[in-house]
Parts: sequence; C-alpha cells; structure tokens
Amino acid sequence: IGGPENLPILTDHLDSFDSPAKEELRRKPHLVILGSGWGSVSLLGNLDKNDYDVTVISPINYFLFTPMLPSAAVGTLELKSLMESIRHIVRRVNGHYLEASAEKILFSEKLIKVKVPGTDQRFYVPYDKLVIAVGSTSNTHGVKGLQYSNQLKTAEDAVEIRRKIVTNLEKACLPTTSDEERKKLLSFVICGAGPTGVEVAAEIFDLLNEDLTRSFPKILRQEISIHIIQSRSHILNTYDKAISEYAMKRFEHDQIDLLTNSRVREILPDQVIFDQKTASGEVETKSVPFGLCLWSTGVAQNPLAQQVVKDLAGSQKNKRAIETDAQLRVIGAPLGDVYAIGDCATVRAELAEHCSDYVRKYIIGSQSHKFVRSHHIITDDDIKHVDLTYNELKQLCTQISQMNPLAAEALSLVEELVPKYDPEGRKKLNFDQVKLLMKEVDSKVTSLPATAQRANQQGKYMGKKLSKLRKSSTTLSINDIVDGDIDNAIARPFKYRHLGSLAYIGNSAVFDFAPGYSFVGDIIAVYLWRSIYFAQSVSFRTRVLLFMDWLNRGIFGRDILT
Ligand code: FAD
Ligand code: MG
Ligand code: MG
Ligand code: MG
Ligand code: MG
Repeated sequence: IGGPENLPILTDHLDSFDSPAKEELRRKPHLVILGSGWGSVSLLGNLDKNDYDVTVISPINYFLFTPMLPSAAVGTLELKSLMESIRHIVRRVNGHYLEASAEKILFSEKLIKVKVPGTDQRFYVPYDKLVIAVGSTSNTHGVKGLQYSNQLKTAEDAVEIRRKIVTNLEKACLPTTSDEERKKLLSFVICGAGPTGVEVAAEIFDLLNEDLTRSFPKILRQEISIHIIQSRSHILNTYDKAISEYAMKRFEHDQIDLLTNSRVREILPDQVIFDQKTASGEVETKSVPFGLCLWSTGVAQNPLAQQVVKDLAGSQKNKRAIETDAQLRVIGAPLGDVYAIGDCATVRAELAEHCSDYVRKYIIGSQSHKFVRSHHIITDDDIKHVDLTYNELKQLCTQISQMNPLAAEALSLVEELVPKYDPEGRKKLNFDQVKLLMKEVDSKVTSLPATAQRANQQGKYMGKKLSKLRKSSTTLSINDIVDGDIDNAIARPFKYRHLGSLAYIGNSAVFDFAPGYSFVGDIIAVYLWRSIYFAQSVSFRTRVLLFMDWLNRGIFGRDILT
C-alpha cells in the first residue's frame, strides 16, 4: 500500500530470496521489460547476467516463434515447437516474471500501473530502466463483424483455426450436409494479402493437396475454394515487384481466387461482403460465403502504446507508434529512463528539428566559412542568415549522416531535391530553405518495418547497451559525457539492417533480399525455405541455447542463406 490511488507497490518478488544470486541482485538497478515477444527475448539474450534486477511483465507467459505460425495454424507443424516458456528465458539473467499487463506508466514517479488479466486487481511496479516491447495488435479498419473471423497472432489463434478447419472438413463429410452447405464449409476466405495472409493461403492449399486427399473423400478436393481479398491491385505489396508478380502467377496457377482492388465492408456469420472496383472504375458490392475467414490486414497500435503517446502528447507526434530517438529512448520521457523497441515503436529522424544545431556544428567545423573568419561567437541570428552553397550542403549532409546514421539513406536524396528548394537558381540555399529541405528528407526516411527481424535487432542493441550502461560508471569520465547524454557517450545510434524477408507461397518461397537484388525461385526456394525454418525450429525445440545463438544472428542472416 502507499502508491497512487492507494494501490500497492511491489517491493520484493516472491522469488527474490530464492537464491544468493537473486538476493544479491535486489540491490542492482531494476530493469523492467514489458512484453515476452521478439524484442524482449532478443534483449534478454544479449544482456549480461548480473547487471540488473530484471522483471518481465507480459500477459502471455511464452515466447512465440511467429514466422512459423501459419504452418502451425494449418497443422503442418506442432505448435509446441514454436513456443518457449518466458520463465526459462528469464532464468538466464536470474530475473522475475509477472503474468500481467501494463496499463499506464507514471514517468515522474517511475512506476508502471499493472493489471492482473481477467480481474480488476491492479498494482504498481517500480523501475529504474524500462523497456517497452508490447508489439502491435491487428488493424480492424473499423469493419463490423470481425467476431465471425479468425485472427492469427497468438498460439490460441492457431489452435482455433486448426480446430475449425478439421471440424468443417468432418461436417462436410456428413450425409446430412447439403451440397451448398458443403461448399460453404470448404470455402476459405483470407482478408489481407500481406505475408501472413499469403502464407496461410499457401499452407491451406498444400494441406488440401498433399494430406487431405489421402484421408478424406476425393470429392472434397473439387469443392474446396480459397479466396484472397486484397485492397490493392497486387499481393505482397511491401515486397519487390518481381516477387509480388511471381506470387500472383503462382496463385493463379493454383486456382486460388485473388480478389484484388477489393475492400471488405462487413463480415456476416457465414459470408464476407466486399466492394470491388472494376477495370472501368465502378464499384460493385459482392459477397463470398465462408467456412473459415482469416482477418490479417496489417497492424495497429497496442493499447499501452496508445496510452504512452497520449500521456506524452506534447512530444509524441506519430499516431501509429511510440517515437524514440536514434538511441531508442522514448521522446518526451525523462532522458535515459524509458526505451521502446519492436512493432510498438518507431525511430524519429528529426533532421529539421535539429537543423540549426547541425548547421552550427558544420560552420564551426568548417574553417573556411565566412562566419568563422569574421565572428568569434555564432549567434542564433547568424544561423538564420546563413547561406550554404551546394558543395557546403553536401559536406553538411556527410557530417549529419555520421551523427545520425538513421538518416544516411534519406540524405542521399538531397542532391536530387536541392533544385526544388532553390527556385531562383542561386546555387545556394538560405537557412529556411535548408530547413524545408530537411523536413522533406525527414518525411522520406522509410519507417522501420513491423517485423521480427527489426524487433530482434533492436532487442540486441538494447541488451548490449544496457549492459554497457551499467559498466559505464567505471569506464567513462565526466569529459566523455556531453550535455548529460550518457547513451550517446557509450553507444552508437541504432542502425537497422534489412536482411531480406521471406514468404512461403505453397511449395515455393519468395525472398526479398537487400535492395537491388531479389530472387524468385522454385525448387531452390523450397529448399531454402524448408532448411532455414527446419533448422531453426528443431534447434528451438531441442536446444534453447542454440536457439539463443541464431536469435543473435537474426532469422534471415545472410550467413545462413549462403
Ligand atoms: P511481439 O513479438 O508481438 O511481442 C509483444 C509482447 O508484448 C507479447 O508477449 C504480448 O503479450 C505483450 N504485451 C502486449 N500488451 C502488453 C501490455 N500492456 N503489457 C505487457 N505486455 C504486453 N516477422 C518477420 O520478420 N518474419 C516473418 O516471417 C513473420 N511472420 C509473421 C507471421 C505471423 C502470423 C505474425 C502474427 C507475425 C509475423 N511476423 C514476422 C511479425 C513479427 O512477429 C513481429 O514483428 C514481432 O513479433 C514484433 O516483436 P515485438 O517484440 O515488437 O512484439
Ligand atoms: Mg516483445
Ligand atoms: Mg513474438
Ligand atoms: Mg511470415
Ligand atoms: Mg514491440
């Protein structure tokens, strides 16, 4: 008792005295991690053992290997081999686990308000360092009747889908089932053609062709239909164009019904109503009956993330994710207390915001600039009256990309954009023009993808940095720390490396490698897909240590592919 609203504050965990090691850790700073998914697990795997008193809070007490979830949902794989107890993972750092969900963060009190699932009970957990890795939820797009559809996010979702497929197949075989009813039971409708939707469609197709014909009446095969409803004109549209086209061809060949340019309007208990735009631009309302409908139309913001953005409204500007700086610190929270990683977070490039700082640093550094020659102190007013030649602008960009690697990619656009901001052709930009230019560059910085790959990289970065921070008291001198920014003194900003993504589309897989190189294949692709995932899931089931190892490498690390 004693916290705000008279709710209790956690002081010691039930297992705080279970071992001398845990007792010793009580005196260390409290690191709280919200979530038990990709981001959190990767962080835990990269944290040194005795640096923090670690507490993981999540309503789900296992880590789920999501890339293989579509296979598990359809039954190709045992679900158990994709799950790992979070308690086992936490044990490595002598940490604690609480099965609960965070509702609100009191930033100045350094307390997390936590709710016990399925009850009205709440309590507070204090933290010294907090990492938010609560992931995302499914996007509803405000569509009515979603309760009649299935989603695929958790292990329970996969079990539910599997159960429904089997029940529908059995029902279809009963003599009391009419022809029309049978067709409906055997109709699979998938809303959303991102990787998850596409993979589920492909898995269902394989299941029906490979396994089903052996144990079920042959007639069922002819009555089965698979439909994909997609709002755009292409499927897999975050992938390379060649890949998207390959997947479409593949699906046509497999007689999977692709309903492109279609928007779901409503889901009824046994049919989906959707609007399809025809080639002539008219909109037709159509319906398709289903036995199973999967809703997988992308991600939306988790409720806790929404709350955080609301509570820090003055500083947080993105409506879809918690914004962090390049050090992954939540913008607006006390510096260095709170971090956010994975699907729930995004990194803000902030070039325009820091434009005058960057220009100032550039001018001071460049001996030749006229300000340096004529003035000793550079005032804000000076900055506002600066004129930068194209060449100076180029040097400025090089300098910025060293300080802010996140923007490096976007800054390469500058040369292309400059003429637009120099309408009079002066071959120079004044400060306001530079700032506008930076604003456009900011908007061009590709936001980080909601993938396991990204969460894994950010988790790794955070784990290493948190351990470094603990040791910094002995390795850093006061002079190393500029403006009280310890993170900047000990660690480089986070940098995302795109290692390629992969989707399974039925007896072949499509890959999307680093920009400029894509690969579409058949037999080779199947081989790679099976071997990558097989190696991963076997090691996952049998040896957690090996699993930690490849987690470090990242799932699609090039070293595995070649
Ligand atoms: P998650 O892994 O989602 O973890 C979030 C955790 O936070 C969960 O444990 C959740 O229970 C917990 N949580 C939620 N709310 C709270 C709260 N209020 N308090 C405390 N804890 C909370 N990515 C790829 O790169 N490749 C793939 O092939 C791929 N396939 C996918 C297939 C499917 C079916 C799905 C659903 C996703 C797939 N992804 C894939 C995406 C990938 O799973 C996510 O990007 C990744 O899980 C994000 O990691 P995260 O740590 O941010 O969130
Ligand atoms: Mg997580
Ligand atoms: Mg996960
Ligand atoms: Mg996938
Ligand atoms: Mg997250």
